[in-house]
Amino acid sequence: MPSPWPAAPPTQAHRAAYADATRKSFWLDTLPGRDPHAPLDGALDADLCIVGGGFTGLWAALYAKALDPARDVVVLEATRCGAGASGRNGGFVQASLTHGIGNGLSRFPDELDQLERLGLENFHALASDLRRLGIDAEFEAAGDLIVALEPREIADLEEEAELVRRFGHEAELLDAERTRAEVNSPMYVGSLWTRTGSALVHPGKLADGLRASAIHAGVRIHEYSPVRGLDKTATGVSVRTEGGVLDARRALLATSAYPPLLRAIGRYIAPVYDYVLVTEPLDASMCDAIAWTGRQGVSDLGNQFHYYRLTADRRILWGGYDAVYRYGGPVGPQLDDHEPTFAKLSQHLFTTFPQLDGLRFTHRWGGAIDTCSRFSVFFGTALGGRVAYALGYTGLGVAASRFGGRVGLDLLDGRSSEATALTMVRRRPLPFPPEPLRTGVIQLTRNRLAAADRNDGRRGLWLRTLDRLGLGFDS
Ligand SMILES: Cc1cc2nc3c(=O)[nH]c(=O)nc-3n(C[C@H](O)[C@H](O)[C@H](O)COP(=O)(O)OP(=O)(O)OC[C@H]3O[C@@H](n4cnc5c(N)ncnc54)[C@H](O)[C@@H]3O)c2cc1C
Repeated sequence: MPSPWPAAPPTQAHRAAYADATRKSFWLDTLPGRDPHAPLDGALDADLCIVGGGFTGLWAALYAKALDPARDVVVLEATRCGAGASGRNGGFVQASLTHGIGNGLSRFPDELDQLERLGLENFHALASDLRRLGIDAEFEAAGDLIVALEPREIADLEEEAELVRRFGHEAELLDAERTRAEVNSPMYVGSLWTRTGSALVHPGKLADGLRASAIHAGVRIHEYSPVRGLDKTATGVSVRTEGGVLDARRALLATSAYPPLLRAIGRYIAPVYDYVLVTEPLDASMCDAIAWTGRQGVSDLGNQFHYYRLTADRRILWGGYDAVYRYGGPVGPQLDDHEPTFAKLSQHLFTTFPQLDGLRFTHRWGGAIDTCSRFSVFFGTALGGRVAYALGYTGLGVAASRFGGRVGLDLLDGRSSEATALTMVRRRPLPFPPEPLRTGVIQLTRNRLAAADRNDGRRGLWLRTLDRLGLGFDS
């Protein structure tokens, strides 16, 4: 059976629907204005320097202060806190630390029980931290629906249901009729509704709230302070920005898909761009036409998958499908716009919900994902243990970044915990090959994944070989 998506190119109407959209993350665009923190200027000292003010860096900063309020902690952020992936994502909060239970099972079968338990603990702790810190990030324990668009995918849903229940989740298989009663698309032939370990959040408000909480805890934050290099010193590490130098005893790198400050990191990370559209708020008749009163986060099942959800003011956020890797792995604002992907995303939304014909998009943007070959956060240390890093969430880091920031700090401080003993924490992923081979391998893999979607999900020789090697490509 061919792909469920139209073979015909997107029409003028599909393109017109987003032509006037603001080229900025909806989450960041709708935050109340806030003044930036001053850039680092001149020479400073600190106990701990955290490079990167996304979720990983901000959670680590809060954890450092909770452990020792007297510790002098400085966050250096290249632009604004939350302006990276943390302020641009879909806002799906998933308990899994391993990019899903299936991926976890294939990579860490012996410790998946433990990883799932730690993931759920982290998920619940995140929710209680938001309450404790007074962060209103529109956290909704809405659960998620994985929808099947083709009859052959029902077997995949049954397998997934068995798997998530085995790890203690509450999950229910719905037939086509019950699925459409939840979210009304004529494309749906069934779904899996998982009610536990899955929530939605306003990621911009989350980042903003963490930034404010860090300041409240005594963390110093310097924005517009891109770090250019790190040097080992007798007592720690010297961190250079354009305008200053910070001498710190220790540094934690939370730089995600951005150009790595250590060569070692670059071997493991391929920045992959994901693109997102957000619609105008749905009017009452459109709301009636699509139901969606349970407000679940939704994703479909292909290798090239979409993720979509409602915002608090009943817009649809619609993202994914294409995952764009460019030669050399550049990251920057010039890549936030990608016309061919927006056209496809628009076409696919109206294919999924034909009853929303005439709806317009108000926001369009892209963001870089820190893809690694095992699709889950990895850690390491450098410069004689003075520096540690935590990155590689591969598109599933909204919740896992809380875990990543804390474990990264434990490793940096030499503190043992249940997590620091895990193989998942101790072992790094298989590296990607260097360019130009890297681009060749990634493009071939993307091409074969798309072909598998068109070919009843059958994985050809290339994908099966990668599976055997434990190498992968995802977003
Ligand atoms: C479009 C998109 C959709 C996604 N959807 C989801 C989702 O629905 N659910 C989910 O779980 N995950 C999702 N993710 C992934 C999730 O957003 C990330 O895993 C998570 O935000 C990672 O947080 P982080 O702090 O590690 O990285 P980031 O938020 O990218 O933060 C890194 C920060 O480091 C700064 N920085 C980098 N280099 C330097 C330097 N040299 N000096 C100073 N600062 C520097 C950057 O400016 C940036 O602010 C998505 C990602 C994208 C891009």
